[in-house]
Amino acid sequence: MSDHQSNDETVLPDGGDVPRETVSIPTEIELPRLLDFYELQDPEHTQIHEFYENLRDGRFTTTECRECGELHFPPRIVCPECTSDDLEYVDLPHEGEMYSFTEVRGTSAIGMNGDTPFVAGVVDLGPIRLSARVDDASYEDLEIGSAVRLKIVEVDGPTDQDRVFYRFTPV
Ligand SMILES: [Zn+2]
Repeated sequence: MSDHQSNDETVLPDGGDVPRETVSIPTEIELPRLLDFYELQDPEHTQIHEFYENLRDGRFTTTECRECGELHFPPRIVCPECTSDDLEYVDLPHEGEMYSFTEVRGTSAIGMNGDTPFVAGVVDLGPIRLSARVDDASYEDLEIGSAVRLKIVEVDGPTDQDRVFYRFTPV
């Protein structure tokens, strides 16, 4: 219980002082490069190209620091723990379990709206936890602890590069 006291001196705004601006929405949206960063998988564009090359070969890897032993995800070029750049790629398990998840129903990133609904969540692989999309399952199909395994997604277009990315799928 609390007493609500009215303040007679409060003056409510009438809207006349609110700044106004007109913005326009383009009828067609060209995908900005920043929203399609997966095309940047080759040595010319990214220093973690080895991650993508390994993934294309069916290996799920990440960097481990030779200096302090820290395991990173996503892969790094410099250890965030000790700033060493003496890193090596090591294999990660391909199976893990759902640590948390949600279902994207409304909209997602520009250019992906037609893909909803889909499940996204945090997968616990043991050595690391990572966020990923989960295919072939609805929100109702999954529980915390549900077993999932790696799935490699080959991205077709819009560039000529052979691109890959990872998702997970129920075991
Ligand atoms: Zn380190």
